[in-house]
Amino acid sequence: MSGIVTALDSVIGRLADLADTPSIPYRTAVVWLSGLQTAWELYVDRRQIPKFSVPIPPPELKNHLKKDTFKKAQAYGRDKLNYSIANTIYSFAVGLAFIYFGVYAATWDSTGRFMARVGIAASRTIVHSLLWMAYLTLITAIPGLAWSYYYTFVLEEKHGFNKSTVKLFITDTLKTWLLTAVIGLPVLAGFLKIIDIAGKNFVAWLMLFLLGIQLILQIVFPIFIQPLFNKFTPLPEGELRTRVEALASKLKFPLTHLYVIDGSKRSSHSNAYFYGLPWSKRIVIYDTLIKDSTPAEVEAVLAHELGHWYLSHPSRLILIAQGHLLFTLVIFSIFIHNKALFEAFGFDPRLAVSSPSGGSQPVVIGFILYQLLFEPLDTVVKFFMNSKTRKYEYQADAFAVQLGFKKELGDALIKLHVNNLSSPHSDRLYSAYHHSHPTLPERLRAMDDYTGEHWLKLSPQAKKEEIAEQHKKED
Ligand SMILES: [Zn+2]
Repeated sequence: MSGIVTALDSVIGRLADLADTPSIPYRTAVVWLSGLQTAWELYVDRRQIPKFSVPIPPPELKNHLKKDTFKKAQAYGRDKLNYSIANTIYSFAVGLAFIYFGVYAATWDSTGRFMARVGIAASRTIVHSLLWMAYLTLITAIPGLAWSYYYTFVLEEKHGFNKSTVKLFITDTLKTWLLTAVIGLPVLAGFLKIIDIAGKNFVAWLMLFLLGIQLILQIVFPIFIQPLFNKFTPLPEGELRTRVEALASKLKFPLTHLYVIDGSKRSSHSNAYFYGLPWSKRIVIYDTLIKDSTPAEVEAVLAHELGHWYLSHPSRLILIAQGHLLFTLVIFSIFIHNKALFEAFGFDPRLAVSSPSGGSQPVVIGFILYQLLFEPLDTVVKFFMNSKTRKYEYQADAFAVQLGFKKELGDALIKLHVNNLSSPHSDRLYSAYHHSHPTLPERLRAMDDYTGEHWLKLSPQAKKEEIAEQHKKED
């Protein structure tokens, strides 16, 4: 084991030397890579545009989409796509401006001067790092507000989805910023401190640290954070509750709480999900879903959701995310002390290895510059992740079909599609790149074609009970 670690260390060391050459034009590389990424995204979006001019719905949906609804869905999709194209161009322009005007180095210096003015020692690198990150985040988030305001109050409003108010929008924004600061800054401080202490072996320690943070957030998020934004009320006794509880007990799903969330407070889009620790799970259903569907249809949607649980999809996705994180950190360890990279973005190259003002080396700069360089690689990751989640969606649908919910799930999905005015036609590449779920026609077709096992791998007892119930029905 230690042999592998030493070998890996020496490979990383050699790559780091190779990557630290002043002749590598890092700034130009970042501009080109993000230009290519933007061109790619615009190309994919461009392919989707004509889909909004197709005059008739796809065959799978033609009996379910009224002419009027179809037209509305096409108009909504077109508006959302135009918004996304404008936003892609805007983000690219901001990114370019940041690079050309040397914003990264200038803000590092100005936060340093600010520290001197308020009497914080220049050697306190972590404080400097946090101030810098907070400053960078704010100057991008403030103009970003105009975009989200437009999205909610112009675009969603125009198509009848917005239920939020300006007051709610402002308090949501302030709460989000405050939480980001309260959670994000200490985590970042811990992140930097660990690299500081662990030195060359930081990857393993950071993985452990970040895993711990994720676990804590998993517990804290639904209990303390989500209630700041939404109200959760236990699902009242009645047909729906009985159905969901019976379904959960049949699948041995450790259901401890069953809530309704007031999603209608902000939007009329609807949904359902579950979360929690392996031995104690909560199911949350949007009030909008309950309003628009029959209890049997909500049950079918939950059968799909519980399929994700039964087939361990969330754990698999967490595992993939850890793999991605490990990969990111290992590559980062190649660039962490890259003087050429620092210099290309206007920083004093000495900052890549030490801190001229005393204190520890400002690792955060290297991390941000490294992110700039590798962010376009996320395009590939996005493709891969979507192909995974799509596969899982098909499996969860098949799971619900096995449980006998084919008709109800189909009906529920169609209703969701109609009520959310989802786009009826999708370009294949556009859909593969942007959608974590298969399109509705694809899902309906797959459910129709499903010929797999009819019985779930339930316990023999559960299977017997099911057969007995079936007989009772037939009698
Ligand atoms: Zn799903």
